[in-house]
Amino acid sequence: MRMKKITAFVLSISLLLGNTTTLIASELHEDTQFDGAITDVDIQVEKIPEDDLFEYESDILAEDNVFEIEDVEIDFDNLSENEDANQSRGDKIDAEITIAPRAAGIDVYASSLKLASGQSTSLKALTNYKFTVALGNNGSTSASNVILRVTHNGASIGDINLGTIPANSSGTVNFEYAGLKHGSNTLGATLDPNKVLADTNRNNNSTSASFTTTGTIDLQATSLTAQSGRTTTQSVNFDFSVTNIGTRNAPASTMRITIGGQPNNLSLPAINVGYRVSGSFSVTFNVSGTHTVLMNIDPQNLISESNKTNNSRSVNVTIAQNTDLWAGKWPNATNLTVYITSGAQDLFTKSVLSSYTVWNGRNSKVNFGSPTYSTNDNSSLDKIDVFVTALSGDTLATCQVENSGGALTDHFNDSQPYIKARIYLDSRTDTNSRLSNRDAELQRKTIRHEFGHAIGLAHPTCLDPALMHQGTSNSYNRTTIAAHDEHNMNAKYK
Ligand SMILES: [Zn+2]
Ligand SMILES: [Zn+2]
Repeated sequence: MRMKKITAFVLSISLLLGNTTTLIASELHEDTQFDGAITDVDIQVEKIPEDDLFEYESDILAEDNVFEIEDVEIDFDNLSENEDANQSRGDKIDAEITIAPRAAGIDVYASSLKLASGQSTSLKALTNYKFTVALGNNGSTSASNVILRVTHNGASIGDINLGTIPANSSGTVNFEYAGLKHGSNTLGATLDPNKVLADTNRNNNSTSASFTTTGTIDLQATSLTAQSGRTTTQSVNFDFSVTNIGTRNAPASTMRITIGGQPNNLSLPAINVGYRVSGSFSVTFNVSGTHTVLMNIDPQNLISESNKTNNSRSVNVTIAQNTDLWAGKWPNATNLTVYITSGAQDLFTKSVLSSYTVWNGRNSKVNFGSPTYSTNDNSSLDKIDVFVTALSGDTLATCQVENSGGALTDHFNDSQPYIKARIYLDSRTDTNSRLSNRDAELQRKTIRHEFGHAIGLAHPTCLDPALMHQGTSNSYNRTTIAAHDEHNMNAKYK
């Protein structure tokens, strides 16, 4: 019999520190910008496998010997010479000397339980020690099939079959046990616990002793690994493990995961000596590039440990750019013609109207021709018309892409080739907020942005800097083409 092993358990924690995967650009604000948020936390406790010992001694962690008694040695000395002496003394008994007669029948007894000689008295938890029980049989009848039960804090940790204890004999039983816990422990030994012997005196069948261990906790940040090959807007799975490599059980603690300077505290369960906690969490990064994720056990230093320098570990994870695209594309993007209708010519300068040409010559097949200043819509293919119309609110411009069936109603999913696009610039009557009266750089940004839509680029859902983000005030919004816009364009037209 052995002590119950700690069964593995699972803690599920969900931490949501901000929007993760469903951001749309129109909802972005400066205060939602973050490197990543932790979700899907999963923590498990497991016993350290035998072959994975870290800094342990192997005998502490051997699979089956930790909580069992073992290496039992039994040694009885028959006391027949003493018996003779007693008898001879008994022969001389007189009224003034009383010698208790040897018990008739069986009287097994256990007189002491202690550390075997030569064992260290500075005890450590879960370390193997040899113990000695002194016992014997005071009776005149030998006892056969005698069981000695060893207990730890009242619970049985094993029965030893002693065989026969001869009449009037004494001896020792040695056993080894590696299950002492931190602090005070009581080990007990009881002969004939099931009371099957015709024992004449059961009051002397048990003995016990207290053993106190000392030791220290040492929590170790054992591993931290990141899933590779992920992009912005995809969750990245992290696996971690924490081991108690000390000699004292550790209470529940905190593990701090720091991403981009932002701390996230996760709860770790108690970790006994020789146990490891392993778990996982996921993070969605919204900006591409290399991110450092740091784990730190007990960051507030609430647990006294023998070594605090092994509590931290970090991993770098490289996140690729995602693509932010509508489904369709121009079959012939190298020759896109641009017509500027008269309304746009009236409100905007040619410098602003022609600023879309920043899309040309960026590794892709996309090439817009110089603007044709026209009076009306032209029905030719591969053509972008720039109109004006009265818009409202924060809307400065809109873009509509068309295929052979007309304007696309689902440009995110309709992959039919584009044959035409129409861009509408704001011409509202409120001259204060009308686009043509706003800052010239905003006008250029708006033209460039709408031409990005005209080739099928969507608003980014990541937070990489880009012209194609909706809005104007975010730190990741750019007024001209950024690396991520070029990445998106080349994903479609390279
Ligand atoms: Zn993106
Ligand atoms: Zn837009």
